[in-house]
Amino acid sequence: MPGPWSTVVDVKKRTARGVLLSTVCGLVLAGVPASVGASTDVDASGQITAPSAGASGAGDPYWPLDGNGGFDAQHYDIDVAYDFATGELTSVTTLRLRATQDLSRFNLDLLAAPDSVEVDGVPAAYRFESGHEVVITPATPLRRGESAQVRVAGRWTPAELSYAGESNWLADGREVVAINQPHMAPWWFASSDHPTDKATFDIEIEGPADVQAVSNGLLVSRTVDGERATTQWRTTSPMATYLAFFALGRYEIARGIRRGLPWYVAVSRELPTAARESSMRLMRRTPAITSWLIDRVGPYPFESTGGLVTSLGVGFALENQTRPVYPLMGSDALATVVHELAHQWFGDSVAVHRWRDIWLNEGFASFFEVYYRETHGGPPAQQWLTSTYGAAANHAPAFWRIDIADPGRDQIFSTPVYQRGAMALQALRHRIGERAFWRLVRTWVATHRGGNAGTAQFRAMAERISGVQLGAFFRAWLSAPRPPARTRANGLR
Ligand SMILES: [Zn+2]
Repeated sequence: MPGPWSTVVDVKKRTARGVLLSTVCGLVLAGVPASVGASTDVDASGQITAPSAGASGAGDPYWPLDGNGGFDAQHYDIDVAYDFATGELTSVTTLRLRATQDLSRFNLDLLAAPDSVEVDGVPAAYRFESGHEVVITPATPLRRGESAQVRVAGRWTPAELSYAGESNWLADGREVVAINQPHMAPWWFASSDHPTDKATFDIEIEGPADVQAVSNGLLVSRTVDGERATTQWRTTSPMATYLAFFALGRYEIARGIRRGLPWYVAVSRELPTAARESSMRLMRRTPAITSWLIDRVGPYPFESTGGLVTSLGVGFALENQTRPVYPLMGSDALATVVHELAHQWFGDSVAVHRWRDIWLNEGFASFFEVYYRETHGGPPAQQWLTSTYGAAANHAPAFWRIDIADPGRDQIFSTPVYQRGAMALQALRHRIGERAFWRLVRTWVATHRGGNAGTAQFRAMAERISGVQLGAFFRAWLSAPRPPARTRANGLR
């Protein structure tokens, strides 16, 4: 859902008209929405009510064009077909949205010019801008509160596309996996690409009949027609666009139900036999690790769990909702699975409000790696904290320089975001005690389930639950450009 920033952008656009400036500003500042018909310019009291353009971004300072204003994305119905021979993707996305203002035009995020755009079945005027925005003008403006079906169709070669220095398409002649963070959606479907605008998804993938198609949520159907197969997956819990994925390839599949929760895992058959077998053994631990997390964190937030191991040379694992995607992994493999499954609560269900909040995702996921070791015969997490602190405090000034609560867009995946994030959480656990810490964890995921939240909200909840003032603690661990002092107040004694 668009954040407060889009209101500010909206004010700028409205005041740029230079008419009835004070009235418009007063209107917005008073929080009174224009509510008259979209075709009316002035209402009975003389106020401007003409529909206006939606903002081109959701207001995230790191990537200002990500997401869009003026509407709330509600459901994506995505049909894609991939041609391994040519690398071409055919994409037809039908997005159900609800206008949050009287809307003359609005944007969707996509890296290729589409071939056609329709709104409620009627062809709409559109233009492709900035390599990332499809600017759509429906034949009739949308009224605030009105729902519309927006259909965007096109055919392009995703490997040729890039955005913000990222070239994210990952495919060879036998397998394709659409995964990345913070951006992936605009390579394969038109969307409002920011975590604040979550929606439900139906994803239908067409490919050769001799390969499997895997995506988020639950498998609905697979139909084979000659040499082609169409596979449909459904996500009924709200999902951020970057967490939507699809994979096409030859996979070994295992599935089942544990504690009422369906699980579905896939391992690429392109991997050598030994690697394939060890990957499948690891993936089969997914339901048990999910269950372990449920016991600590609270109810699982989605309709299924699982994982997929690709043969493609992706240099990272990603917490795709319900089904993380992994590269072939080495000795730290179990910790990585714990990390990505912890993200289902921390990052996926409770998503960032702005990308600067990323330490809440990576810090929690990394903390659970350490905590898993503590509860499975390894050293206590506090021992890990003090030894990691000891090593980094003396030798690594760069490790402490970044403000991990606002690391800058090029640093959101830097080591301090993960490691200092996890250290801060263990230090908090030590500072406020076991009872308050786990109450905080469970209250955090329950309160913000399916939504978004940031650092200020986390600090406020930690203070409320523990009864401890934690301003200095969070400044020391997140933002100060030096190691926190080795004090009891910083959770180090
Ligand atoms: Zn992570």
